Amino acid sequence: MTQTRPLRVAIIGAGPAGTYAADILSKSDVNVSIDIIERLPAPFGLVRYGVAPDHPRIKQIIVALANVLGRGDIRLLANVNIGTDLTMQDLRDHYDAVIFATGAFKDADLDIPGIDLDGSYGAADFVSWFDGHPDVPRTWPLNATEVAVLGVGNVALDVSRILAKHVKDLEPTEIPDNVKEGLLASPVTDVHVFGRRGPAQVKFTPLELRELGQVPDVDVIVYPEDYEFDEGSERAMEESKQTKQVVKTLVDWTLKEPTGASRRIHLHLMQSPQEILGEDGKVVGIRMERMELDGNGGAKGTGETIDYPVQAVYRAIGYWGTEIDGVPYDDRKGVIANDGGHVVDAEGAIVPGLYATGWIKRGPVGLIGHTKSDAMETIGMLVEDAESLMANSVAGAEQLSPDNVLRLLRSRDVDVVQWHDWEVLDAHERALGEAQGRERVKVVPRDEMTDIALGRA
Ligand code: NAP
Repeated sequence: MTQTRPLRVAIIGAGPAGTYAADILSKSDVNVSIDIIERLPAPFGLVRYGVAPDHPRIKQIIVALANVLGRGDIRLLANVNIGTDLTMQDLRDHYDAVIFATGAFKDADLDIPGIDLDGSYGAADFVSWFDGHPDVPRTWPLNATEVAVLGVGNVALDVSRILAKHVKDLEPTEIPDNVKEGLLASPVTDVHVFGRRGPAQVKFTPLELRELGQVPDVDVIVYPEDYEFDEGSERAMEESKQTKQVVKTLVDWTLKEPTGASRRIHLHLMQSPQEILGEDGKVVGIRMERMELDGNGGAKGTGETIDYPVQAVYRAIGYWGTEIDGVPYDDRKGVIANDGGHVVDAEGAIVPGLYATGWIKRGPVGLIGHTKSDAMETIGMLVEDAESLMANSVAGAEQLSPDNVLRLLRSRDVDVVQWHDWEVLDAHERALGEAQGRERVKVVPRDEMTDIALGRA
């Protein structure tokens, strides 16, 4: 392809999905000029604000993402919100193509009685709190001694582990000071985790599950009566080494005696949430229905119910993607309506110049690395479209110039955080950490983050 100018591309979201897409696109045959636009004042999305602080190995992904974003050929425009600071029309005016990599950071709804009671929470909100997300309240009501966590995926593991872990075991991590104080005051003794199907249907990954058994002064308790296997379960274990490993860990735990630890995580299976029980508007319990497997790994209710006294319920039943004004959205799946990465309208026709990648494209499943193959598919489409995108561009060279969008943002008084500004905040957080013998201490309030990054603090 002969190009008279670089193709201008905006990628919305500086998490793993957006950064992988930028990296792959920058290495393609197309001459590109890429801006990654991020609504938070810090990059790295889910890795900074979704991965649990006691998972430093996964947090290390930041090193690879920083190598891409700090390389110099991709421009970061952080602290810029699409919809307010820049509209969809602005994006259309200033770029040839827009790739949405906005992820999924809200909780999926659970429609059962009592879900709105005081003490009923979404896991995503709790994760945002303990990860120091700037847009959530600084305090979290940790006053329950017994807690229910619904769902048996890795988010449920993160939530129950952070709830049950003693603060001293979290101290070396990057948890912000307000989180440390909040957890220190927590009177929790028992965390009840509930899965609605059997041991071969849990969504935990082997390493993360085993880690639960190693938390100091926390006993993991399992219930042998929950260990039901049907033909579907046998098939699942035959087909997946990972499932087999997870089942082995769970079965091994049925033989383990509790050590008398001061806190317990109970892993219950074959129980589905029916109702959150309340008194005076507050959670006082949860009613679960006993389930039985249907032969294919699915489960059906038996009508038998069991009530557990709990004062808080966290639903960790999956994340949900947020709609962006002016972009077609599939509200059955919580994703941007797309066909393999091409955004499509209500009739299924491709909307030229708009693409999606990562969790907002395929839903909130899979580990961070899986996002790479996603990005390859989306970028492959964009590269194929490059010639027609350039030919059909209505914007002039002046409008498409990288300086122009920055001028527009400054004229709107947006405190844009670029990579070199982030480096200032990064160094500040590391220095805070060093003083306490920790790798980093996160700065939480948004205005403090931008003031430090922009040299105003
Ligand atoms: P997930 O793996 O999809 O697990 C969701 C859980 O919620 C499943 O057990 C599901 O049960 C259950 N569920 C859904 N609807 C329910 C309902 N109405 N009632 C009761 N239970 C319900 O989702 P996730 O835990 O949010 O994790 C998202 C992705 O991030 C996953 O790929 C995960 O591995 C990844 N992640 C990884 C880590 C890590 O440390 N490596 C940490 C966090 C997240 P059914 O299967 O029966 O539907």
